[in-house]
Amino acid sequence: MAKIKKKIKTIKVNADKCNGCRTCEVVCSAFHSKPAYSSINPAAARIHVTTHRLKDIWLPVFAGEYTPAECNGRDQYTIDGKQYDECSFCRATCPSRDLFREPDTGLPLKCDMCEGQEKPLCVEWCLNEVLTYEEREEEVEEVPALNELEAGLNALIDKYGLENIGTAVARISQRS
Ligand code: SF4
Ligand code: SF4
Repeated sequence: MAKIKKKIKTIKVNADKCNGCRTCEVVCSAFHSKPAYSSINPAAARIHVTTHRLKDIWLPVFAGEYTPAECNGRDQYTIDGKQYDECSFCRATCPSRDLFREPDTGLPLKCDMCEGQEKPLCVEWCLNEVLTYEEREEEVEEVPALNELEAGLNALIDKYGLENIGTAVARISQRS
């Protein structure tokens, strides 16, 4: 497989500095609304801050890959004396929770590092410096990437089957 240079974008999270203000969720959902900045809905953000006030837990996690099946494990983490619930660190859109789904359609959401922006907006607007953005170049094997539309279609096909999706599209196209 051919090797290509790829820009690797990383956001480092220093959860110790997070106070759960949720500005990151607000700005992410605003930027990704259509048209951009037309609405705010943190449920549509591609970053989620897990908060347990009594346990002093504030944990920002970014939306990652869609998965059609939930995992069997329910790991527990204890860090600096704080116990984190199952799935706290998981970035997947999976059937066992509503997280990282577009609220109206249920389609999976994934952090795209604010494509087209010089710097991710959640990083820019986190005034507590929890999030730090870094870029580097790496040589990697070329793999065809799924775009947002293909990822969404794959999720629908996994849920309803290719035949049903095809029938629904044909029905809709007859109406329009
Ligand atoms: S904006 Fe920063 S401090 Fe506020 S919830 Fe997000 S990561 Fe935490
Ligand atoms: S980098 Fe952009 S898309 Fe990703 S969580 Fe932050 S604001 Fe949302």
